[in-house]
Amino acid sequence: PIILFILLPNISSAIAENVNDKPIIILSDKQQQFLTNLSVIKKCVDPAWMPVEAINEQGEHIGIVADITDLMVKKLNIPIELVHTTSWLESIEKLKQGYCDIVTTDTAHVEQRAYLQTEPFLDLRLVYITQIHVPERLDFSMIKHKTIGIPAGYPIIELIKQRYGDVNIVEVESVAAGLLKVSKGELYAFSDILPVCSFSIKQQGLTNLKVAGHLDITVPMVMNVHTDLPELVPILSNVLNEIEQAYLDKLLVKWINVEYDLKLNWTRIFLYSLLFLLVLLFVLYWTRKVHVLNSKLKKANDKLILVSETDSLTNLKNRHYVKKILPEIINDAIHKKYSVGLAIFDIDYFKHINDKYGHSVGDECLVLFAQKMRLIFNAKEDISIRYGGEEFLLVSINKSSQDFIKLLEEFKHAIENMALQHEKEIKFTVSIGYTFHQSLTEWDSKLLIEPDKNLYHSKKTGRNKITGSLL
Ligand code: GH3
Ligand code: MG
Ligand code: MG
Repeated sequence: PIILFILLPNISSAIAENVNDKPIIILSDKQQQFLTNLSVIKKCVDPAWMPVEAINEQGEHIGIVADITDLMVKKLNIPIELVHTTSWLESIEKLKQGYCDIVTTDTAHVEQRAYLQTEPFLDLRLVYITQIHVPERLDFSMIKHKTIGIPAGYPIIELIKQRYGDVNIVEVESVAAGLLKVSKGELYAFSDILPVCSFSIKQQGLTNLKVAGHLDITVPMVMNVHTDLPELVPILSNVLNEIEQAYLDKLLVKWINVEYDLKLNWTRIFLYSLLFLLVLLFVLYWTRKVHVLNSKLKKANDKLILVSETDSLTNLKNRHYVKKILPEIINDAIHKKYSVGLAIFDIDYFKHINDKYGHSVGDECLVLFAQKMRLIFNAKEDISIRYGGEEFLLVSINKSSQDFIKLLEEFKHAIENMALQHEKEIKFTVSIGYTFHQSLTEWDSKLLIEPDKNLYHSKKTGRNKITGSLL
């Protein structure tokens, strides 16, 4: 659709080229001087009289007369600027007040007015439009007592009154509004020139209307010129006279059938596509942003959880972990019918180390102890926890009792044989109490009472010992 939209305006320039081949209008020196002094022609137009002319949604002058004034720009080599108005009557007012130099459409007047006029360049017959069921081709004089809509202030009102005498004319807001009133039955008929009526009927999709007949009036169309610029009248008339009827017919066909409808539709489609694309981009951008924020939040949360479950000195799990996470893990193991080994470690005479070497050396010992735990209890299901000051807990899942006990022995020896390098080697031992459950029904914190009792037994019977029960 975007490509078509760009290509469409070329249709109008293709038609216009036929006439452009002709040389620029020959002007007298005086006329040339006049245009040079004027430097720009300001035009007021009928903003709603398609296909003759209109101002579109983008504020551009379009229609047959727009093409004609474009031709004038080329032939006279002078810019013509649009002065915006919302009705033809306003355009006439602006001309009188000097805000514009010309009004591009009017009908030729017999008597003198407050402005000048060019020679006629279009001569179009008036028709009248009714609902479909009205009898065909009645003479207009037979319906003149019925309500007949005409856009307010249009000069054709006067032409009709001159020709038909007393006519029941109802002034309406616009061509579109008048035809709609006929369609709804609020007016009997509407009258204007044929292309204007058919264009508006088509555009509004009014299917219950028809061209019921024509009036014995043709509308000689002229341009109005401000009284201060009499020199402009013959110059414009000159250009208008040069335009051939065949070219005007082409413009009529073009503006009725092709351009306006398509241009409007494609403009809409283009705008809607653009809008859709923008909404889509915004949604994509937003989801992406939310996604990024969420993953950041998750990372932050994960880190927070890790921090709250980890002992900062040894980097082992802490007591909080035992309360919050451990029950879930053990229940899962129980569900899978895995064995559960629970062992509590307490460093022997740790107070002495603190007393003798200081608290920070004590800390180093705890770090060393934790490292050894990680080194020896390194199965996927082994969880090493700092349970208290110098007390540790081992949870070992899905091991045979023999392997479990063997590992505890290995660990006890490793601690025994290990030394912290200080001024002097610092050595210590550990007492261990455990329980080994081949099967369990549910996690209960009371399960830690028994290993603690066993630990107490190890302490009482000489330390650097392992006491356990197989359940
Ligand atoms: P026992 O063989 O009976 O266990 O003797 P113990 O000296 O180890 O006695 P107990 O277990 O009652 O004392 C533990 C000591 O551990 C008390 C405390 O000063 C010390 N402690 C607890 N937490 C820390 C810590 O984070 N760092 C250091 N350096 N010492 C700690
Ligand atoms: Mg202790
Ligand atoms: Mg101790």
